Order: sequence, then structure tokens, then C-alpha cells
Amino acid sequence: MSAAPRQQPLAPVRQTPARQTPARQTPGDHTPVSTVPAVALRDVSVAYGSTIALAECSFEVARGETLALLGPSGSGKSTALKAIAGFEDVVAGDVEIDGRTVTALPPRDRGVGFVVQHYALFPHMNVRANVAFGLKARRTPRADITPRVNEVLRMVGMLSYADRLPRELSGGQQQRVAIARALAGQPDLLLLDEPLSALDTRLREEMLIELQQLRHDLPDIAIVHVTHDQAEALALADRIALMRNARLEAIDTAENLFHRPPSEFAATFLGGADILPVRALDHIDAGAVGPVDHGGAGLRARSSRGARRDQQVSLAVRPWAWEFSRTVPDNGLEVDVVDLQWRGSTRHVRARVAHTDLPIGVDVPVLRDAPRPGERLWVRVDPADVHMVPAEKSA
Ligand code: ADP
Repeated sequence: MSAAPRQQPLAPVRQTPARQTPARQTPGDHTPVSTVPAVALRDVSVAYGSTIALAECSFEVARGETLALLGPSGSGKSTALKAIAGFEDVVAGDVEIDGRTVTALPPRDRGVGFVVQHYALFPHMNVRANVAFGLKARRTPRADITPRVNEVLRMVGMLSYADRLPRELSGGQQQRVAIARALAGQPDLLLLDEPLSALDTRLREEMLIELQQLRHDLPDIAIVHVTHDQAEALALADRIALMRNARLEAIDTAENLFHRPPSEFAATFLGGADILPVRALDHIDAGAVGPVDHGGAGLRARSSRGARRDQQVSLAVRPWAWEFSRTVPDNGLEVDVVDLQWRGSTRHVRARVAHTDLPIGVDVPVLRDAPRPGERLWVRVDPADVHMVPAEKSA
């Protein structure tokens, strides 16, 4: 697949008076302008036969906000998106769009734009006809269709490709056309289901920038973006809803979820933390750093919720937070090096906490001396990067 260079500068979308929404007060101000959420799920459950694909899921997305639904494959992300769009019936709960309950409405009456992973363009229609299709189906006056199609194609940089067939386009270009088609009806809500996952690495990076630009050009629409890729979620989302086993595990700003993970799962899925079981050695206030013990090895860690003396908790530490040391560090552990993996700009060292089977990963800059397999040495860590989270019962 060849890279898709931008053909046209992005142009801002024209809002028709009927769809006009209040503008932000200042550029870059991410405060939602309306208190009515653009979309809300209220205890929504969806089942496929006996499989519960989404269980009592509730969240709201404000106008102008991008929410990423992030989680492993099969966690219920696409199902949540389909419930919003009306492609799956809910067995319980309600979906609201712009303050209106739409649970019983068919997809065409919900006014949302939907982009799926594999473009889903009509192969026998050219780009222009693909984008115009929904407008024609909705009996948009012919005189309005051409300017609107031109406008959205210009917005995604595809106007000069209007006469091509989908098979004459790269994957990235086809996905841009799919986005243009979703935007043609001027939705207030755009749903993106793994829009970048069918693209190769370089195209994904280009499309990430495209989507950031699109957000800038359409400041008032709400976007719900399904992805299993944490980098995509962190780059694009104002907030992240972390999905796990059909349930919403946590929802917060990308910043908070990353820097103050509320659970073992949040810390491991977002940032690849390793988990160490420990015991709090003292009462530790929420947000404070305090001492913990792991089989005689002491560490200091930050507790987001606070901990009682002797409480069993877990520590979550990301691989980049550890640093190897050949002397006893102020805050660290003794480890045995297992092996090393080359990962481009870093080497990922797999190690075990000495005298245990507990694995930890340590990222070492490539140009730095790396330890050798079999070596016993120390790792040190800043207590602010040691997140104390509730201990999860093992499955
Ligand atoms: P995700 O988008 O997070 O990968 P999905 O929402 O697609 O997950 O799926 C959630 C669960 O529902 C999974 O267990 C999946 O196997 C199941 N599922 C999804 N679609 C169907 C379907 N059409 N029929 C039966 N089971 C399905």
C-alpha cells in the first residue's frame, strides 16, 4: 500500500443554520459548550444469544469531546458503538442522543455518522457517488448535494480523487472517503470503529494527524472512537473509557488514567505496567507516598486512594520507570536479569524480582550499557512512578 499524500489543504466545514451549534469561547478551549450530552448510554446491556457483549454500560460524551472506547479485543467496544448507532438492539437501558431517547429508533433516524474498520465503500461507485449516496437516500435537494460532497471531500483532502473508483485508491485514501461519507450528512456525532487498524504503520501515523486536524476543523461534533491501541486513544481522546469483559472498567481523562491508574488493569493495559503484590507498612493518605513491603524488600509508592496499615495492595510500575543500578538504590529492588529484546529505540529487559518468580520489564535506552542475562543487580524507581492500586483477586 502506498502512502497517501495530502492533496488539498483542509477547509473548515460550513455549518448550515439549522445545525449550527454555539462556538467555543476561545480557540483550543475544550470546555463543552452545552450541558446536554451529545450522546449518553444509561445502563445499556446488549446480548448475542447467551453472550453478554455489553453489561450495564453508562457514559456520556459532550459536544466537542472525543471519547475513546479502549480495551482488548472482545471487550464490548464495537457493541457499544453499534448500540449508539442503532445497529444492535439493547436488552436493557437507554441510548440518548442530544437529550432525546433514541433506543427504539432505527439507525437512519439517529443522525450519526459511522465509519467502520474496512471502509465499506460501494466498489462499483466512484468516490463522489459513494459520498453522495446517503444524501440522495435522504432526498437532499440535488442542488445541495454537489457543494456538500465537494466540501467534505476537500476537508479530507480527497476532492481531486472524486472520479476514482475505490479500488483505484490506497487503504488510507479509502478510509478518508469513508470519513467524508460519514460527515456528508452533517452529523453532530461521529462514530469511528477501529478506523486505523486496517492501515499499515506509516499510514496510521498519517491518519492520526488527519483525525487530529478533523477534530480541529469540526470543533463542535462529538466523536466516539473505538480502538484497541492505547497510542491512538492517548493521541486523540479527551477522555478514555476503558472496556474489559463487556464492562466499563474506568472512564477519565487520558492524563488521569495514565498518571493515576485506578486499577491493575488500567495500569497494565495503558502503559504496560507490571504488578507486584505488597503490604502497606503504614497508613498512607490518598495521593501520598508511603512505605510498602514485598517479602522483606521495602519500596515507597504513591497511593491514589490511600491505604490502611497492613492492607494488601498491588504496585503497578511501567517498564520505562525502572532504571538499573549496580549499587543499592534509595528506592528499588534486587532483580535477576532473564533476557533482552531489541525494540528499536529501547531494549526491553525481562527480569525477575530476586528470590521470587515475579516478572518485571525494564526499558533501557539502546545506547546505554544493558545488563546481561543471569546478572543480579538493582533497579531503582521514583516513588511517584510506583502506583499503588487495589489488589485484584486472581481469576
Ligand atoms: P470489541 O469491539 O471490544 O472487540 P465486540 O463488541 O465486537 O468487542 O464483542 C463483544 C463480545 O460479543 C465478544 O465476546 C464477541 O465475541 C461477541 N460478539 C460480537 N458480535 C457478535 C455477533 N454478531 N454474534 C455473536 N457474538 C458476538
